[in-house]
Amino acid sequence: MRFSGWRVLKEGLTGNKGWRPHWRDPEPKREYDVIIIGGGGHGLATAYYLAAEHGITNVAVLERGYIGGGNVGRNTTIVRANYYLPGNSEFYSHSLRLWESLEQELNYNAMMSQRGIINLFHNDGQRDAIVRRGNSIVNQGDDAELLDREGVRRMAPFLNFDNNRFPIMGGLLQRRAGTARHDAVAWGFARGADMRGVDLIQNCEVTGIDVENGRVTGVQTARGPIRAKKVAMAAAGRSGQVAAMAGLTLPIESHVLQAFVSEGVKPIIDNVITFAEGHLYISQSDKGGLVFGSYLDFYSSYAARGNLPMVEHTMETCMAMVPAVGKARLLRSWGGIMDMTPDGSPIIDHSPIDGLYLNCGWCYGGFKATPGSGNVYAHLIATDRPHGAATRFKLDRFRTGVGLMDEEGTGAQHNLH
Ligand SMILES: Cc1cc2nc3c(=O)[nH]c(=O)nc-3n(C[C@H](O)[C@H](O)[C@H](O)COP(=O)(O)OP(=O)(O)OC[C@H]3O[C@@H](n4cnc5c(N)ncnc54)[C@H](O)[C@@H]3O)c2cc1C
Repeated sequence: MRFSGWRVLKEGLTGNKGWRPHWRDPEPKREYDVIIIGGGGHGLATAYYLAAEHGITNVAVLERGYIGGGNVGRNTTIVRANYYLPGNSEFYSHSLRLWESLEQELNYNAMMSQRGIINLFHNDGQRDAIVRRGNSIVNQGDDAELLDREGVRRMAPFLNFDNNRFPIMGGLLQRRAGTARHDAVAWGFARGADMRGVDLIQNCEVTGIDVENGRVTGVQTARGPIRAKKVAMAAAGRSGQVAAMAGLTLPIESHVLQAFVSEGVKPIIDNVITFAEGHLYISQSDKGGLVFGSYLDFYSSYAARGNLPMVEHTMETCMAMVPAVGKARLLRSWGGIMDMTPDGSPIIDHSPIDGLYLNCGWCYGGFKATPGSGNVYAHLIATDRPHGAATRFKLDRFRTGVGLMDEEGTGAQHNLH
């Protein structure tokens, strides 16, 4: 089933009776070439690229709940490629380029909106750091523009320019950054993978990983054992628990991150805005809701809900920067489980067990990585060599200390990233 303007018109005129389910609901087979654990954005994108780019279609994605019920459907939808350090910068650049043609590639409306992101700075030190970052982004081949205070005011007049504690001195603008409809991204990849023969198996929790003589042979699931030549983890916040099933201890802590959305209001915020002081990011959804978030809850947890101190902090910061938000009512808040590495950067690598692959440590930045992560992970699984855009996401950097990518400069402490 192809989507097109003509198809929408035809279905609208004929009672919308021709639409079909986006993917099948197959029974698991006894054996696959590749099993992917986790039907979030990364697992689904990996399955899609395995089939689309490597011709590997005897693949199952095993999801304990439903497709899109994890972080891929819980994030604040920000997409950007404004990372500073080698390793991260080329990877996110690769990912943003995939985002730019994703809807045509998937024939699916993911509502990719390159509305631009502005990272504000509030003091001289932050300005210097942001200029360095901007130069690094431009050297990488992506776009970055330095805005002065008046430049920011022209684009975002609703910000609090009278705030003496956190004066807005300027911002770094990346015009190609923006937002995408998060759950549509999951559905688009799911549909694309299913069309190419991948089995998407929901309500199928992996409960064990079978290893014989140092090599993975399959998994145990809530729907029985399934054999596989290769098993690829993409379990995001539960990566530590899944790896433990194979006897591995990952350098990962899981933390809760909350997000908030207001009632719908008339268009006010055109871009994504982030505040360096107090850490806040805000944008406006196409339905009008103000979507925003802040820090992690600062303690390890597997609860997909947060606590009140971080709610209070987020509201305070939001009011300090966008006082008009105080007039809107908060509609919803929710949480998701973040898999945090010590340097805040991901792991895409072989595991010490033959045939078992790792994709984890996305922290709170994994949504923008979705196509890039799936693309490079599929390459690793298919060829057993890292993709050129992801050569530094090695597991052993945490053992050797060589190649750490501490993008936030916060040191080796998970909950500060
Ligand atoms: C509140 C919030 C805001 C965020 N904002 C942004 C943002 O603005 N920009 C950005 O880039 N990133 C953001 N992120 C981070 C981003 O959402 C995640 O890094 C990313 O979605 C993780 O990858 P995923 O989509 O594959 O994860 P998930 O969707 O969580 O997929 C993992 C899947 O694995 C499944 N699973 C786990 N264990 C098992 C098992 N044993 N068996 C079978 N299945 C299993 C889970 O059910 C889940 O569906 C945010 C996250 C949160 C929570």
